[in-house]
Amino acid sequence: MTEQNNAAMSFLVIDEAPPTVAKSQLPPWKILVVDDDDQVQAVTRMVLRHVQFRERAFTLVGAASAKEAREILLQDASFALALVDVVMETKTAGLDLVRFIRDEMKNRSIRLIMRTGQPGHAPEQSVVIDYEIDAYMAKTDISAQKLVTTIIASLRAFEYISEIKTLNAELEARVAMRTAELEKLAMLDALTGAGNRRHLEQRAEAEISACQREGKPLTVLAFDLDHFKKVNDTWGHPIGDLVLQKVVQVAKDLLRPSDFLARIGGEEFIILLPGASQAGALQIAERIRVAIAVQAIPANGNTVNITASFGIAALGEDFSLENAIARADAALYRAKNAGRNQIAEDK
Ligand SMILES: [Mg+2]
Repeated sequence: MTEQNNAAMSFLVIDEAPPTVAKSQLPPWKILVVDDDDQVQAVTRMVLRHVQFRERAFTLVGAASAKEAREILLQDASFALALVDVVMETKTAGLDLVRFIRDEMKNRSIRLIMRTGQPGHAPEQSVVIDYEIDAYMAKTDISAQKLVTTIIASLRAFEYISEIKTLNAELEARVAMRTAELEKLAMLDALTGAGNRRHLEQRAEAEISACQREGKPLTVLAFDLDHFKKVNDTWGHPIGDLVLQKVVQVAKDLLRPSDFLARIGGEEFIILLPGASQAGALQIAERIRVAIAVQAIPANGNTVNITASFGIAALGEDFSLENAIARADAALYRAKNAGRNQIAEDK
Protein backbone atom coordinates (compact mmCIF):
# COMPACT_ATOMS: atom_id res chain seq x y z
CA MET A 1 0.00 0.00 0.00
CA THR A 2 1.29 3.44 -0.86
CA GLU A 3 0.96 6.37 1.50
CA GLN A 4 -1.79 7.79 -0.69
CA ASN A 5 -3.73 4.54 -0.57
CA ASN A 6 -3.54 4.58 3.19
CA ALA A 7 -5.00 8.08 3.21
CA ALA A 8 -7.86 6.85 1.09
CA MET A 9 -8.43 3.94 3.43
CA SER A 10 -8.55 6.15 6.52
CA PHE A 11 -11.05 8.41 4.78
CA LEU A 12 -13.17 5.35 4.19
CA VAL A 13 -13.04 4.23 7.77
CA ILE A 14 -14.56 7.52 8.89
CA ASP A 15 -17.29 7.17 6.31
CA GLU A 16 -17.90 3.51 6.91
CA ALA A 17 -21.54 3.83 8.08
CA PRO A 18 -23.87 2.26 5.50
CA PRO A 19 -25.93 4.69 3.46
CA THR A 20 -29.29 5.49 5.02
CA VAL A 21 -30.80 6.94 1.87
CA ALA A 22 -33.01 4.50 -0.02
CA LYS A 23 -31.49 3.37 -3.29
CA SER A 24 -32.45 5.70 -6.03
CA GLN A 25 -34.41 4.46 -9.02
CA LEU A 26 -32.27 6.57 -11.32
CA PRO A 27 -29.60 4.73 -13.31
CA PRO A 28 -26.12 4.89 -11.78
CA TRP A 29 -23.27 6.89 -13.28
CA LYS A 30 -21.04 4.48 -15.14
CA ILE A 31 -17.36 4.98 -14.45
CA LEU A 32 -14.53 3.12 -16.12
CA VAL A 33 -11.43 2.66 -14.00
CA VAL A 34 -8.46 1.97 -16.24
CA ASP A 35 -5.42 0.97 -14.24
CA ASP A 36 -3.00 -1.93 -14.27
CA ASP A 37 -2.49 -1.69 -10.51
CA ASP A 38 -4.94 -3.92 -8.61
CA GLN A 39 -4.58 -1.88 -5.46
CA VAL A 40 -5.51 1.33 -7.24
CA GLN A 41 -8.56 -0.45 -8.62
CA ALA A 42 -9.54 -1.68 -5.16
CA VAL A 43 -9.00 1.64 -3.40
CA THR A 44 -10.93 3.54 -6.07
CA ARG A 45 -13.81 1.15 -5.64
CA MET A 46 -13.81 1.64 -1.89
CA VAL A 47 -13.55 5.41 -2.08
CA LEU A 48 -16.54 5.64 -4.39
CA ARG A 49 -18.59 2.89 -2.78
CA HIS A 50 -21.14 5.06 -1.00
CA VAL A 51 -20.81 8.22 -3.02
CA GLN A 52 -23.85 9.47 -4.88
CA PHE A 53 -24.37 12.43 -7.15
CA ARG A 54 -27.86 13.72 -7.93
CA GLU A 55 -29.25 10.68 -6.12
CA ARG A 56 -27.50 8.39 -8.54
CA ALA A 57 -25.00 5.83 -7.30
CA PHE A 58 -21.81 4.92 -9.15
CA THR A 59 -21.21 1.76 -11.10
CA LEU A 60 -17.51 1.06 -11.51
CA VAL A 61 -16.13 -1.11 -14.28
CA GLY A 62 -12.47 -2.00 -14.13
CA ALA A 63 -10.04 -2.38 -17.03
CA ALA A 64 -6.46 -3.57 -16.38
CA SER A 65 -5.08 -2.22 -19.67
CA ALA A 66 -5.79 0.36 -22.35
CA LYS A 67 -6.60 -2.50 -24.71
CA GLU A 68 -9.26 -3.85 -22.37
CA ALA A 69 -10.65 -0.34 -21.89
CA ARG A 70 -10.98 0.11 -25.64
CA GLU A 71 -12.93 -3.12 -25.94
CA ILE A 72 -15.27 -2.13 -23.11
CA LEU A 73 -15.86 1.35 -24.51
CA LEU A 74 -16.56 0.05 -27.99
CA GLN A 75 -19.30 -2.18 -26.57
CA ASP A 76 -20.87 0.39 -24.29
CA ALA A 77 -21.13 4.10 -25.07
CA SER A 78 -22.89 4.99 -21.83
CA PHE A 79 -19.86 5.69 -19.62
CA ALA A 80 -19.94 9.14 -18.05
CA LEU A 81 -16.34 9.11 -16.91
CA ALA A 82 -13.08 7.22 -17.18
CA LEU A 83 -10.24 7.36 -14.67
CA VAL A 84 -7.20 6.61 -16.78
CA ASP A 85 -3.75 5.53 -15.70
CA VAL A 86 -0.97 6.75 -17.99
CA VAL A 87 1.63 3.99 -17.87
CA MET A 88 0.15 0.55 -18.47
CA GLU A 89 1.12 -1.87 -21.27
CA THR A 90 3.21 0.95 -22.75
CA LYS A 91 4.54 4.19 -21.33
CA THR A 92 1.87 6.14 -23.18
CA ALA A 93 -0.96 3.57 -23.14
CA GLY A 94 -3.31 5.91 -21.21
CA LEU A 95 -2.63 8.86 -23.50
CA ASP A 96 -3.14 6.67 -26.56
CA LEU A 97 -6.43 5.51 -25.08
CA VAL A 98 -7.57 9.11 -24.61
CA ARG A 99 -6.68 9.93 -28.18
CA PHE A 100 -8.55 6.83 -29.34
CA ILE A 101 -11.66 7.88 -27.39
CA ARG A 102 -11.68 11.43 -28.75
CA ASP A 103 -10.35 10.94 -32.28
CA GLU A 104 -11.36 7.43 -33.32
CA MET A 105 -14.55 6.88 -31.34
CA LYS A 106 -15.47 10.56 -31.67
CA ASN A 107 -16.71 10.43 -28.10
CA ARG A 108 -16.57 14.03 -26.91
CA SER A 109 -18.93 13.49 -23.98
CA ILE A 110 -17.16 11.05 -21.71
CA ARG A 111 -15.16 12.89 -19.03
CA LEU A 112 -11.55 11.83 -18.61
CA ILE A 113 -9.42 12.06 -15.51
CA MET A 114 -5.82 10.96 -15.83
CA ARG A 115 -3.91 9.54 -12.92
CA THR A 116 -0.26 8.83 -13.14
CA GLY A 117 2.42 7.55 -10.85
CA GLN A 118 5.11 8.99 -13.12
CA PRO A 119 4.25 12.63 -13.78
CA GLY A 120 7.54 13.16 -15.62
CA HIS A 121 6.35 11.04 -18.53
CA ALA A 122 3.46 13.27 -19.54
CA PRO A 123 3.69 16.96 -18.70
CA GLU A 124 0.40 18.09 -17.24
CA GLN A 125 -0.32 21.23 -19.24
CA SER A 126 0.23 19.83 -22.73
CA VAL A 127 -1.69 16.70 -21.81
CA VAL A 128 -4.76 18.61 -20.62
CA ILE A 129 -4.78 20.82 -23.71
CA ASP A 130 -3.85 18.25 -26.34
CA TYR A 131 -5.99 15.39 -25.13
CA GLU A 132 -9.18 17.09 -23.87
CA ILE A 133 -9.05 15.73 -20.39
CA ASP A 134 -10.73 17.16 -17.31
CA ALA A 135 -8.01 16.61 -14.75
CA TYR A 136 -4.53 15.34 -14.51
CA MET A 137 -3.56 13.99 -11.13
CA ALA A 138 -0.34 12.59 -9.79
CA LYS A 139 -1.25 9.48 -7.84
CA THR A 140 0.85 10.68 -4.95
CA ASP A 141 -1.42 13.75 -4.67
CA ILE A 142 -4.74 12.02 -4.75
CA SER A 143 -6.55 12.07 -1.46
CA ALA A 144 -9.92 10.35 -1.38
CA GLN A 145 -11.72 13.65 -0.96
CA LYS A 146 -9.89 15.30 -3.84
CA LEU A 147 -10.71 12.36 -6.08
CA VAL A 148 -14.40 12.51 -5.16
CA THR A 149 -14.51 16.28 -5.70
CA THR A 150 -12.87 15.98 -9.11
CA ILE A 151 -15.20 13.18 -10.13
CA ILE A 152 -18.29 15.13 -9.07
CA ALA A 153 -17.13 18.21 -11.01
CA SER A 154 -16.55 16.03 -14.08
CA LEU A 155 -19.96 14.36 -13.78
CA ARG A 156 -21.55 17.80 -13.60
CA ALA A 157 -19.79 18.69 -16.86
CA PHE A 158 -20.94 15.39 -18.36
CA GLU A 159 -24.49 16.21 -17.35
CA TYR A 160 -24.34 19.63 -19.10
CA ILE A 161 -22.83 18.11 -22.22
CA SER A 162 -25.53 15.42 -22.29
CA GLU A 163 -28.26 18.03 -21.90
CA ILE A 164 -26.80 20.13 -24.70
CA LYS A 165 -26.54 17.06 -26.91
CA THR A 166 -30.19 16.22 -26.25
CA LEU A 167 -31.27 19.79 -26.97
CA ASN A 168 -29.19 19.85 -30.15
CA ALA A 169 -30.69 16.58 -31.33
CA GLU A 170 -34.20 17.91 -30.66
CA LEU A 171 -33.40 21.13 -32.47
CA GLU A 172 -31.93 19.28 -35.43
CA ALA A 173 -35.02 17.07 -35.63
CA ARG A 174 -37.23 20.17 -35.60
CA VAL A 175 -35.16 21.88 -38.29
CA ALA A 176 -35.27 18.75 -40.45
CA MET A 177 -39.04 18.53 -40.04
CA ARG A 178 -39.50 22.23 -40.88
CA THR A 179 -37.19 21.91 -43.89
CA ALA A 180 -39.25 19.00 -45.17
CA GLU A 181 -42.42 21.04 -44.66
CA LEU A 182 -40.98 24.00 -46.53
CA GLU A 183 -39.79 21.79 -49.36
CA LYS A 184 -43.25 20.35 -49.63
CA LEU A 185 -44.82 23.83 -49.56
CA ALA A 186 -42.42 25.02 -52.25
CA MET A 187 -43.81 22.24 -54.46
CA LEU A 188 -47.46 23.07 -53.90
CA ASP A 189 -49.78 25.68 -55.28
CA ALA A 190 -50.70 27.55 -52.10
CA LEU A 191 -54.29 28.25 -53.14
CA THR A 192 -55.45 24.82 -54.27
CA GLY A 193 -52.92 22.37 -52.85
CA ALA A 194 -52.29 21.01 -56.36
CA GLY A 195 -48.68 20.66 -57.45
CA ASN A 196 -46.94 23.62 -59.05
CA ARG A 197 -44.95 23.69 -62.27
CA ARG A 198 -41.69 22.83 -60.51
CA HIS A 199 -43.31 19.84 -58.85
CA LEU A 200 -44.84 18.78 -62.19
CA GLU A 201 -41.45 18.79 -63.88
CA GLN A 202 -39.88 16.80 -61.08
CA ARG A 203 -42.71 14.30 -60.92
CA ALA A 204 -42.84 13.96 -64.71
CA GLU A 205 -39.15 13.15 -64.84
CA ALA A 206 -39.62 10.28 -62.40
CA GLU A 207 -42.83 9.03 -64.01
CA ILE A 208 -41.47 9.23 -67.54
CA SER A 209 -38.36 7.25 -66.71
CA ALA A 210 -40.50 4.66 -64.88
CA CYS A 211 -42.81 4.33 -67.92
CA GLN A 212 -39.78 4.17 -70.21
CA ARG A 213 -38.26 1.42 -68.07
CA GLU A 214 -41.45 -0.61 -67.81
CA GLY A 215 -42.67 0.08 -71.34
CA LYS A 216 -45.93 1.58 -70.08
CA PRO A 217 -47.81 4.47 -71.66
CA LEU A 218 -48.20 7.90 -70.06
CA THR A 219 -50.80 10.41 -71.10
CA VAL A 220 -50.95 14.13 -70.42
CA LEU A 221 -54.23 15.85 -69.87
CA ALA A 222 -54.41 19.66 -70.14
CA PHE A 223 -57.50 21.50 -69.01
CA ASP A 224 -58.58 25.06 -68.62
CA LEU A 225 -61.69 26.57 -66.99
CA ASP A 226 -64.07 28.15 -69.48
CA HIS A 227 -64.69 31.90 -69.17
CA PHE A 228 -63.04 31.97 -65.79
CA LYS A 229 -62.37 35.71 -66.09
CA LYS A 230 -66.13 36.22 -66.04
CA VAL A 231 -66.36 34.44 -62.66
CA ASN A 232 -63.79 36.81 -61.17
CA ASP A 233 -65.41 39.86 -62.77
CA THR A 234 -68.94 38.90 -61.67
CA TRP A 235 -68.35 37.46 -58.21
CA GLY A 236 -64.95 38.79 -57.20
CA HIS A 237 -61.62 37.05 -56.69
CA PRO A 238 -62.48 35.32 -53.39
CA ILE A 239 -65.24 33.40 -55.19
CA GLY A 240 -62.89 32.78 -58.12
CA ASP A 241 -60.42 31.26 -55.65
CA LEU A 242 -63.17 29.10 -54.19
CA VAL A 243 -64.04 27.82 -57.69
CA LEU A 244 -60.39 26.89 -58.32
CA GLN A 245 -60.22 25.03 -55.01
CA LYS A 246 -63.43 23.18 -55.75
CA VAL A 247 -62.29 22.18 -59.24
CA VAL A 248 -59.02 20.77 -57.85
CA GLN A 249 -60.89 18.83 -55.19
CA VAL A 250 -63.33 17.39 -57.73
CA ALA A 251 -60.54 16.37 -60.10
CA LYS A 252 -58.40 14.87 -57.33
CA ASP A 253 -61.32 12.77 -56.14
CA LEU A 254 -61.45 11.11 -59.56
CA LEU A 255 -57.72 10.46 -59.87
CA ARG A 256 -55.68 7.50 -58.68
CA PRO A 257 -52.89 8.11 -56.17
CA SER A 258 -50.35 7.58 -58.95
CA ASP A 259 -51.86 10.37 -61.07
CA PHE A 260 -50.60 13.87 -60.60
CA LEU A 261 -52.43 17.18 -60.84
CA ALA A 262 -50.62 20.51 -61.16
CA ARG A 263 -51.86 24.06 -61.52
CA ILE A 264 -49.56 25.72 -64.03
CA GLY A 265 -51.37 29.00 -64.58
CA GLY A 266 -54.34 31.03 -63.33
CA GLU A 267 -56.98 28.53 -64.44
CA GLU A 268 -54.75 26.10 -66.33
CA PHE A 269 -54.06 22.60 -65.14
CA ILE A 270 -52.04 19.59 -66.22
CA ILE A 271 -52.71 16.02 -65.15
CA LEU A 272 -50.14 13.28 -65.60
CA LEU A 273 -51.68 9.85 -66.02
CA PRO A 274 -48.89 7.28 -65.77
CA GLY A 275 -49.88 3.91 -67.18
CA ALA A 276 -52.93 5.36 -68.97
CA SER A 277 -53.34 5.04 -72.73
CA GLN A 278 -54.91 7.91 -74.66
CA ALA A 279 -58.20 6.00 -74.69
CA GLY A 280 -58.06 5.49 -70.92
CA ALA A 281 -57.21 9.16 -70.43
CA LEU A 282 -60.25 10.11 -72.50
CA GLN A 283 -62.53 8.27 -70.04
CA ILE A 284 -60.91 9.96 -67.06
CA ALA A 285 -61.14 13.37 -68.72
CA GLU A 286 -64.81 12.80 -69.46
CA ARG A 287 -65.52 11.95 -65.81
CA ILE A 288 -63.70 15.06 -64.62
CA ARG A 289 -65.42 17.24 -67.23
CA VAL A 290 -68.86 16.08 -66.09
CA ALA A 291 -68.02 16.32 -62.38
CA ILE A 292 -66.89 19.94 -62.82
CA ALA A 293 -69.90 20.88 -64.96
CA VAL A 294 -72.42 19.58 -62.41
CA GLN A 295 -70.91 21.47 -59.48
CA ALA A 296 -73.03 24.24 -58.06
CA ILE A 297 -70.54 26.29 -56.11
CA PRO A 298 -72.14 28.53 -53.48
CA ALA A 299 -71.33 32.23 -53.91
CA ASN A 300 -72.89 35.01 -51.83
CA GLY A 301 -76.29 33.31 -51.74
CA ASN A 302 -76.14 32.35 -55.43
CA THR A 303 -74.39 29.47 -57.10
CA VAL A 304 -71.61 29.55 -59.66
CA ASN A 305 -71.45 27.02 -62.47
CA ILE A 306 -68.24 26.41 -64.33
CA THR A 307 -67.13 24.17 -67.16
CA ALA A 308 -63.72 23.16 -68.44
CA SER A 309 -62.19 22.25 -71.80
CA PHE A 310 -59.70 19.44 -72.14
CA GLY A 311 -56.86 18.41 -74.40
CA ILE A 312 -55.25 14.96 -74.38
CA ALA A 313 -51.89 13.82 -75.71
CA ALA A 314 -49.93 10.63 -75.10
CA LEU A 315 -46.24 10.86 -74.33
CA GLY A 316 -44.38 10.58 -77.64
CA GLU A 317 -41.44 8.42 -78.58
CA ASP A 318 -39.18 11.32 -77.70
CA PHE A 319 -40.32 10.94 -74.06
CA SER A 320 -40.55 14.73 -73.86
CA LEU A 321 -42.96 16.20 -71.32
CA GLU A 322 -42.73 19.58 -73.02
CA ASN A 323 -43.70 18.11 -76.37
CA ALA A 324 -46.64 16.15 -74.89
CA ILE A 325 -47.90 19.26 -73.09
CA ALA A 326 -47.63 21.31 -76.31
CA ARG A 327 -49.75 18.74 -78.17
CA ALA A 328 -52.27 18.51 -75.31
CA ASP A 329 -52.49 22.33 -75.34
CA ALA A 330 -53.07 22.35 -79.10
CA ALA A 331 -55.91 19.85 -78.61
CA LEU A 332 -57.28 21.95 -75.76
CA TYR A 333 -57.28 24.96 -78.06
CA ARG A 334 -59.37 23.00 -80.56
CA ALA A 335 -61.81 22.02 -77.78
CA LYS A 336 -62.19 25.70 -76.87
CA ASN A 337 -62.78 26.68 -80.49
CA ALA A 338 -65.32 23.92 -80.94
CA GLY A 339 -67.52 25.42 -78.22
CA ARG A 340 -65.86 24.60 -74.85
CA ASN A 341 -66.95 22.11 -72.14
CA GLN A 342 -65.54 19.31 -74.25
CA ILE A 343 -62.48 17.18 -74.85
CA ALA A 344 -60.20 17.08 -77.88
CA GLU A 345 -57.47 14.53 -78.54
CA ASP A 346 -54.06 14.89 -80.14
CA LYS A 347 -54.17 13.15 -83.49
MG1 LIG B 1 0.25 2.01 -14.30
